[in-house]
Amino acid sequence: MKTLLHPRFRPAHLKAHARTVVTRLAKAYPQANCALQHTNGLELAVATILSAQCTDARVNLVTPALFAKYRAAGDYAAADPRVLEREIQSTGFFRNKTKSIVGMGQALVERHGGELPSTMDELTALPGIGRKTANVILGTWFGKNDGVVVDTHVRRVSRRLALTRETDPVKIERDLMQLLPRERWTWFSHAVILHGRRVCVARRPRCEECVLNTICPSSLVAP
Ligand code: SF4
Repeated sequence: MKTLLHPRFRPAHLKAHARTVVTRLAKAYPQANCALQHTNGLELAVATILSAQCTDARVNLVTPALFAKYRAAGDYAAADPRVLEREIQSTGFFRNKTKSIVGMGQALVERHGGELPSTMDELTALPGIGRKTANVILGTWFGKNDGVVVDTHVRRVSRRLALTRETDPVKIERDLMQLLPRERWTWFSHAVILHGRRVCVARRPRCEECVLNTICPSSLVAP
């Protein structure tokens, strides 16, 4: 059943609503950035693969030793999967992640001379790299606003804010790309991820301390 939305959240007014959301989040999180530690694009790609179903903090505990050992795509391509599995075990889903990382390393060596490509099509053709991971790499490492990263936080917070009514990440991303200024796409993802971790948490959002509580249709406190 569809719920009736306040006029502010109907399509004609959504862009203005989104602008207000961006303005307030920009004051709260002006420097929002990727929390995964990395010093190059390959490291970011590996860290992003490891971050699936895992916290960034946990990934950041594992990657320093990993990045010291595996320095180039060829190192991952030649890795012994059983050894790599042990090295990344604590991030969960380590067998699939190992397959993705080794496969990505091999594809980079075979198709890209060991370098990380910088387009959505080339990145998503690599093993283990879907649109979300590609968006992280393009936005954070290459500085390209090609899309909006939609993770569990962006999905939840965007729906609570009525920026989308979709549940599918691809459709949520499409809605956000229509509403947000392109130069804000990457920053918006990082800011909303922070907001989702600190304030608009899954179980009981901390609406009383939220900078969006007077414009959010899901706010638990009166405007
Ligand atoms: S007001 Fe509450 S539900 Fe809305 S964005 Fe803020 S924390 Fe989330």
